[in-house]
Amino acid sequence: MSFERVQEKLNILADAAKYDVSCSSSGSNRTNTNKGLGNASNSGICHTYTEDGRCVSLLKILLTNHCIFDCAYCVTRKSNDIKRAAFQVQEVVDLTINFYRRNYIEGLFLSSGIFKSADYTMERLVSVAKKLRLEENFNGYIHLKSIPGASDELMREAGLYADRLSVNIEIPTEEGLKLLAPDKNRADFIKPMEKVKNEIIQYKSEKKLIKSTPKYAPAGQSTQMIVGASGENDMQIMYTSNYFYKNFNLKRVYYSGYVPISYDTRLPQIGTPVPMLRENRLYQTDWLLRFYGFHIEEILNKDNQYLDLDIDPKLGWALRNLHEFPVDVNKADKRMLARIPGLGMKSVFKILSARRYRQLNWDHLKAIGISFNRAQYFLICASNQFETRDLTPEKIKGLILQNSKSKYTSMLSNQLNLFG
Ligand code: SF4
Repeated sequence: MSFERVQEKLNILADAAKYDVSCSSSGSNRTNTNKGLGNASNSGICHTYTEDGRCVSLLKILLTNHCIFDCAYCVTRKSNDIKRAAFQVQEVVDLTINFYRRNYIEGLFLSSGIFKSADYTMERLVSVAKKLRLEENFNGYIHLKSIPGASDELMREAGLYADRLSVNIEIPTEEGLKLLAPDKNRADFIKPMEKVKNEIIQYKSEKKLIKSTPKYAPAGQSTQMIVGASGENDMQIMYTSNYFYKNFNLKRVYYSGYVPISYDTRLPQIGTPVPMLRENRLYQTDWLLRFYGFHIEEILNKDNQYLDLDIDPKLGWALRNLHEFPVDVNKADKRMLARIPGLGMKSVFKILSARRYRQLNWDHLKAIGISFNRAQYFLICASNQFETRDLTPEKIKGLILQNSKSKYTSMLSNQLNLFG
């Protein structure tokens, strides 16, 4: 193959893939057998963090940016006047193997515009993964995007070769989807998700009986929603997210602040800031629901349809429920400890363990690593040095913000540095 031509395709198709944020490669346990050397400076390589904090690099590309659909929010839409390109299956295989051998990447994130039909495209995505696994004996991480509307048979095959599969919901409500992506309908996302969920369950139960049963999508499935393209409030976004977590056993939902890329009256105009802070607050809420034992109605409901951008959602909940505080850290159960602003789950576990040996005071809590600025208004311990109990929610919020301005500013770009 001509190096220049492949390089040109790589530039186009890596650039087109950068809008997709759903590429965390968490949860896979395939063995990395590569022992080469190299660096990660090539275009098309993204870094992503796993749930256990590991940073991994992936070759992140589209198979093609040709598309028969015209979703208004997408740079690849058919009406957009851009340079188009398409990789051949073998070209993606060769690129992946070359980058992997040089130690530039630990895996592949492969998505695609839809050319001809959902199945035609999905078949090619599956072929890449199949060739990598069977012909190249590739044990690196593979994340394949599933094409909405792809057949059950192709979805079944995809999971046998990919570590993770994902179908992007993109727009959180059906009305929004109808407005911005009239060629799509929600049933086309749900069908492959349902299939993947059922296959994962089935393969897992078969593996318990027959050891040689292959793994099916061992890192599970995920999805992505665009935030700020179609006017939904935070409550609608998080209820959609909650629905998909519960019904399709998703590993992750990713929230991607809309980047204005087109002059279209249905969308925020070019120059509108990307809603990064809102995106961060949604991730924090997602974390509260999955790991901190909160119910969605406690955070978002008819009276609170948007998250407070000034403060994290746990602090927001605490200020609305001051009657639940102060919590005695030497006596409270795990559930209530996890609800104290300024305490992450790591601190909660450390407290539970440390208090078996002594009554904890502020010095102990600071040593454990709690965020004193937020926590001081919501807990009691074996000293009352800092306690002030006659403050209104507004006053507490003001004091916390006053003492944490620089930290909040720096948090804007750090989506997963959540609660402390
Ligand atoms: S189908 Fe996918 S690639 Fe095609 S325009 Fe819609 S979002 Fe973009």
